[in-house]
Amino acid sequence: MLYYKFSDYLKNKYGTKVYKLPVNIASTCPNRDGQISENGCIFCGEEGTGFENLSSGIAVKEQLLKNAAYIGSNYNAQKFIAYFQNYSNTYMPFELFKDYINEACIESMAAIYISTRPDCIEDRYLDFLTKVKSEKDIDILIELGLQTVNYHTLKILNRGHSLAEFIDAAGRIKRYGLDSCAHFIVDLPMDSLDDVIEGAKILSALGINQVKCHSMYILKNTVLGDMYESGGIAPLPMEEYVERLITFLEYLDPGIVIQRLIGRAPEERSLFCNWETSWWKIRDVIEGRMTLEGRFQGKKFNYLGGSALKRFMD
Ligand code: SF4
Repeated sequence: MLYYKFSDYLKNKYGTKVYKLPVNIASTCPNRDGQISENGCIFCGEEGTGFENLSSGIAVKEQLLKNAAYIGSNYNAQKFIAYFQNYSNTYMPFELFKDYINEACIESMAAIYISTRPDCIEDRYLDFLTKVKSEKDIDILIELGLQTVNYHTLKILNRGHSLAEFIDAAGRIKRYGLDSCAHFIVDLPMDSLDDVIEGAKILSALGINQVKCHSMYILKNTVLGDMYESGGIAPLPMEEYVERLITFLEYLDPGIVIQRLIGRAPEERSLFCNWETSWWKIRDVIEGRMTLEGRFQGKKFNYLGGSALKRFMD
C-alpha cells in the first residue's frame, strides 16, 4: 500500500461506496466578520472554500435529500456523508448549530463531516456531537484548517490562530471520542521541507485521523492573488510539490487516512492552480514515483514512543 486511501477507508468501514453530500449553511468565519480580522486568510476567496454547494437559503434537510436522490439514482449510492464545508461551521450560536446537525441526521447518513477553525472548538458543541454519534449511530469527523505548523507562516497567512489552538482543538476532539481531519498545504513557498516533515510528525503525534493535502492554489480577488500578480510570491514547481508530498507521507503515521493528495479550485476563479495540470495526472506522477523509488506512507514513522530507547530493547 503506497498510502491509506480515503476510498479504501470508506469501503473497509461501511462495506460499500459512500458519497459526500455538500451542505451549505449561512455560516461565516471569525477571521472575516471582524471578530479576529476582516481580511480573512490571504488565500481565502469571497465564497470561502466551498465551490460546489446548493444555496444556503435551502434547508439543510432539503439540500441533503435533494443531493442524495440525485446521486443515489445516478450511482446507485446507499450511504452518504453530510459535509458542512464552507467557512467555519461551528462558529454560530449553540442552539442553531444543534438544529443544523439534527437536520442532517437523515436515514442513510453514515457520517457528518464538519469543517471549521481550530479556535471554534468548544466542549458544549463536542459533547452534543458525541451524543449524536451514540444515539443516532452516525460517525462524526471535524475538519480543522491548519495549513502549516510553522507559526511564522501562520502569521503571514493571516490565519488568526497559532499552532497552540490547533493542538488544543485536536486533543479536545480526541478526548470526546470524535474523529479529526487536518488540512495541510504542502508547498507553501515560505515553508521549508523541514516544516513539512515537522507537520507530518505533529499530526501523527496528535493522533489526527485523516489529512487533506493541498497545493497552494491562488484565487482571484484575494491578498495572495495580489501578491502573486505583483511578483511578491511565486508558486514552487510541481516537482517540488511531488517531493514534499511524498516526504510528508513517509513521516506520517500509516494509520492516518489521506482524504486528498492534492486540492483543486475552479479554473474561472483561479490565477494559478496545479500548474495547469489535472489533479489526477499529478496523483499518477506521485504514485508512479513512490512505486519506482520504494517509498510509502509511514516509511519513516519511527520517531514516537521513546524512539531513542529502542537500542535497549531485547
Ligand atoms: S478560516 Fe477558512 S473561511 Fe475563514 S478566512 Fe480562513 S480560509 Fe476563509
